[in-house]
Amino acid sequence: MNQTIASSIRTIPGHPKPGINFRDITTLLENPKAFRMTIDQFVQRYMDQNITAVAGIESRGFVFGSVLAYELSVPFLSIRKAGKLPAETISQSYQLEYGEDVMEIHKDCVKPGDRVLIIDDLIATGGTVSAAIKLVRQLGGVVVESCFVIDLPDLGGSKKVQEEMDCPCYSICEFE
Ligand code: IMP
Repeated sequence: MNQTIASSIRTIPGHPKPGINFRDITTLLENPKAFRMTIDQFVQRYMDQNITAVAGIESRGFVFGSVLAYELSVPFLSIRKAGKLPAETISQSYQLEYGEDVMEIHKDCVKPGDRVLIIDDLIATGGTVSAAIKLVRQLGGVVVESCFVIDLPDLGGSKKVQEEMDCPCYSICEFE
């Protein structure tokens, strides 16, 4: 694990509710050395994998994903919460701790056979990225991998996504 990156991430105990340790990547983004190392690590991993698009999950996935797409010289695709995208979309619901939420993607943004890399800041239970994987696949894209700055392995999301969604997961840092 890269210590410069890991130590640039701030932990906020008790956010958004008691008992949760929120991993805050704003401090990573405020640290140019850590931000560059993060992007460079992703670029090194994906530069030779024939990725044809990077799909970022709203909203912190947009920050890392747009820079990565720029570096790989491929399109950046937006996966957003329901009602935010203006053109025709497809939707996918997913479970939250209490209730459910819906993710959307523009119908025309994935080309059949596209080799898509999905990115978000963090994977916890894996529900959010599973919805994103389903959206990309429904449009005929191949999800090469899903990648994250942070994995919380104790919550089992990355294992579940690899086993149940048959999609590899890659993370730069792991936290309890
Ligand atoms: P999952 O669906 O349970 O895997 O939760 C992942 C989603 O929740 C991602 O979009 C994250 O941005 C967000 N999330 C959950 N916990 C944290 C956290 O501690 N820090 C930052 N984002 C989090």
